Amino acid sequence: MVLKSTRSPGADASGLFRRPRLVMRAKRIEEIPTIIAQTKTYPTPVRIVGADYSQTRCVGGDGGTTVDTSALDRILELGETTVRAQAGVRIGTLVRALAERNQELALTPEMGHISVGALAVTTCPQASQTGGMAQLSSLVTELKLITPQGKMMTVTERDRDLMRVLRSSFGLLGVVHEVVLRVQPMVPVRIDYQVASLREFTARFPGIVDAPGALRLHISPFNDRIIVERRTQEDVDNSSRSGIWQIRNSVMRNVLPAFGSTVGSVLAAPGVRAAVVSGVQRALRATLDRAARGVVMYAHEWMRDLPQEAWKARYTYSLWAFPQNDFPKLLQAYFAFCKAHYKEHRYRCNVVNGASRLHQDRGSLFSVSHSGPMFTLEPSSTGEKGWDDFLIDFNDFAHRLGGTPTFNQTRALQPEHVAKAFGERAKLFRALRQRTDPLNRLRNSYFAYLLG
Ligand SMILES: Cc1cc2nc3c(=O)[nH]c(=O)nc-3n(C[C@H](O)[C@H](O)[C@H](O)COP(=O)(O)OP(=O)(O)OC[C@H]3O[C@@H](n4cnc5c(N)ncnc54)[C@H](O)[C@@H]3O)c2cc1C
Repeated sequence: MVLKSTRSPGADASGLFRRPRLVMRAKRIEEIPTIIAQTKTYPTPVRIVGADYSQTRCVGGDGGTTVDTSALDRILELGETTVRAQAGVRIGTLVRALAERNQELALTPEMGHISVGALAVTTCPQASQTGGMAQLSSLVTELKLITPQGKMMTVTERDRDLMRVLRSSFGLLGVVHEVVLRVQPMVPVRIDYQVASLREFTARFPGIVDAPGALRLHISPFNDRIIVERRTQEDVDNSSRSGIWQIRNSVMRNVLPAFGSTVGSVLAAPGVRAAVVSGVQRALRATLDRAARGVVMYAHEWMRDLPQEAWKARYTYSLWAFPQNDFPKLLQAYFAFCKAHYKEHRYRCNVVNGASRLHQDRGSLFSVSHSGPMFTLEPSSTGEKGWDDFLIDFNDFAHRLGGTPTFNQTRALQPEHVAKAFGERAKLFRALRQRTDPLNRLRNSYFAYLLG
């Protein structure tokens, strides 16, 4: 067990306060029950940190003990249908190891730094291909964890209800140290783009959502522009490797960043920010010409790594999800909201907003597509003055229009947002948490405020 720091790190560049008193880097699983049991040596709350990339205070140290899982970094078993890994393994490492065996996860995020432990217990929605699988945690078939009482526990998919709750537990019901994820043979993906005004998008919407493939949208409210990115699984036999762009040339790396829709575009040197703001439309045009014929690639090729230090990721965003059926109407309201906000406060997001279509996924209690197919809406920014206020107003907007937030990717969340969006599910989780952790050993002020 390595003591990493006794100084309170305070707020980082993302503006998030963590403030633990101790940060312990667990090297062996057996150390974690000791930390949980010794309340005098290791102050409450005991919170777990994976890669520390969440957009909220869900890790939240609160003068307690933060357990860093980054040293639990072994992939334990690569099988035909599953992979077993320790909680600290980064998803990028895992996905690359799978790709060497011509395997992949059914959902591959764009960001490689997510820890396997966090993936299993948080809300990470991804543009999905089919029903039942729209959040990374739905890939989990088995979890090994240490309960608030310090007991070792193994939960498999057969414990369906328990698994659903644990997949949304944010370290409040136990410390996950080992995870088994479902894997599949690698499938090439064709990526196509269509550009539309909001009016055109609305008219074409039924066809857009009914056609096969995962959907990611790149939305520019001030230019009345929506780029529809469709990721369609190709027949393996029809895709020669020579037809697949290699990582250096891939769309995600070179094309999308050019118009600021992915993380890399705003992480680099100063000056890039301005380019993102002013060059969006020009880059977009070039992008569309280049990508017009469609590009075929493997999912692991669109994954990218952020800087090792989470605080250097200057790119920031927030995420709510809205029912698929009314999404064009919702976008219309969002465009009007953005314009009205700009008129009054002279602030607008300087990075293209993202959105993903999510099929229904009831695999976790706080799944944002629990009740049916949804689209996320992700206002994005480099976080300058005005962003925090924008988010407060955006939350009111999203709350009013029936949006569903997340605990790790929705900023400035309030208890009323949680109560309205999750209703009985939030009550159920609260009751369960109180029963399993009556002394609140694992609970921080962030979750006490939002969930009780
Ligand atoms: C720039 C940027 C880009 C992003 N891109 C994507 C993306 O493409 N796709 C996507 O899905 N998400 C994306 N995210 C969001 C991010 O993936 C999620 O917030 C994710 O939860 C972060 O993983 P982490 O390992 O950093 O978790 P952390 O922030 O370290 O922890 C998240 C929560 O999980 C708990 N936790 C962590 N490990 C454990 C454990 N072993 N046992 C119990 N509880 C645990 C923590 O206590 C905390 O409550 C992005 C974030 C940023 C900042």
